Amino acid sequence: MKQSVLTELFRKLPSVDEVINGPGVAGLATSYGREPVADAVRAVISRLRLEITSGLLDEDGLLLALDGLAVAVEDQLRRSLTYSLRPVINATGVILHTNLGRAPLAEAAIKHIGETAANYSNLEFEVEAGVRGKREVHVERLLRKLLSDFAGLRPGGTAEAAVATKSETATIVVNNNAAAVLLALNSLADGGEVIVSRGELVEIGGSFRIPDVMAKSGAILREVGTTNRTRVTDYASAVNEQTRLILRVHRSNFEISGFTEQASNAELVALARKHNIPMMEDLGSGALFDLRAVGISGEPGVLDSLRSGVDVVTYSGDKLLGGPQAGLISGRADLIARMRSNSLFRALRVDKLIYAALEATLLAYVRHDHNSIPVLRMMRLSKQEIDERASALAARVQRSRLRIEIIDGESLLGGGAAPSSVLPTRILALACEGFSADELARKLRGSEPPIIARVEDGRVLLDLRTVFPEQDAIVESALARISGGSAA
Ligand SMILES: *Cc1c(COP(=O)(O)O)cnc(C)c1O
Repeated sequence: MKQSVLTELFRKLPSVDEVINGPGVAGLATSYGREPVADAVRAVISRLRLEITSGLLDEDGLLLALDGLAVAVEDQLRRSLTYSLRPVINATGVILHTNLGRAPLAEAAIKHIGETAANYSNLEFEVEAGVRGKREVHVERLLRKLLSDFAGLRPGGTAEAAVATKSETATIVVNNNAAAVLLALNSLADGGEVIVSRGELVEIGGSFRIPDVMAKSGAILREVGTTNRTRVTDYASAVNEQTRLILRVHRSNFEISGFTEQASNAELVALARKHNIPMMEDLGSGALFDLRAVGISGEPGVLDSLRSGVDVVTYSGDKLLGGPQAGLISGRADLIARMRSNSLFRALRVDKLIYAALEATLLAYVRHDHNSIPVLRMMRLSKQEIDERASALAARVQRSRLRIEIIDGESLLGGGAAPSSVLPTRILALACEGFSADELARKLRGSEPPIIARVEDGRVLLDLRTVFPEQDAIVESALARISGGSAA
């Protein structure tokens, strides 16, 4: 647009004062207060300026916008006084979607958070003895039960050793798994060397990079092998008197295929034992149940790792475990004790609400009540159950403008599980006359609550695996409203 036209349009914009005292806006100050109204007016006017500058508004458009000014100001006010963090419907089929808050919590966890938040609690208090206690006890006792059967299964482990080790499996909780890795490395290897395969020097996203965390921990990274092949002999020849730890890192969001080789946990454990150095595994997702039950192999669980003899494992609370954001460190009691007495632990500890959510989630595992944990429930949904819901939804929103097809697809575990860890699903593939796929996806995001979908090959894809069944009706009415018209 020519500069003279722009200047002309800018001249038509009212001043903040004019709008504040103008029709429809003057009255708002009584209910919202003068300052918030002024802020809202400024925000609306600067939005109009931006739209003029970027050529989105011509003269007609501007006049229309000015007519609706009072409504826009009230809208802005209402939005500024409501929550920014709000629920969305996840129709992406990615079960642990980091941008969408990872694991939704179990009902019991939400209830336990509520009662813990509203009251004083025995967070660090032994009620019977009337003395100070430790906050870790609330989850450690449950993890001891859940992880107790590993010890007897260690190579060469005896029943007596199992009993002895059982009571010694310790766990501490920190803010997230990144913090868990930092604390473990700093406690076990500050100033010394940590041996890691070059094939595992990963970046997880959100700027968690193994070499950077290593540097921050004060440990010295000793890389061995190559990107695609690292043998146990590579580790063995790197061991020296500075070695403090052998570290294995789950590759998380990427895979190496083709000409590859990786030392097994058993080989690394044997090497670590021989030199009397600990072996640690950063599992990332760290499932507490056997994923083979839902047809996914090759995703090691916490028990698999401990059973193979690994001394310390680190894992997230809000990935496959299905709990709140947290980082858990489980393993040999003497090593965990060193982490607990590190002053970093005090800086990274979590609050009572996280303990409440974690305790309730772990208790569901102890009770074998897996279905009460939403992410486990979603993983266990069969393709047929999803197909039935998709078909029912499609039948209810028949509109002449809307084309719905139900196709085979894959749901992703996400949250640091391997990219090939997928579950077969049935997907609603949508096209709406008059809208591009991107526009349709945007309209779905604009509904209340926002519905987040995938766009692929010119269609909008909805995977009901990650949609709670009671939300199907919300998706249905959003689609009906967006595609408008009468039912076909
Ligand atoms: C996800 C992940 C992390 C980071 O965990 P957060 O809980 O997000 O801090 C670290 N290591 C691995 C292998 C992961 O998959």
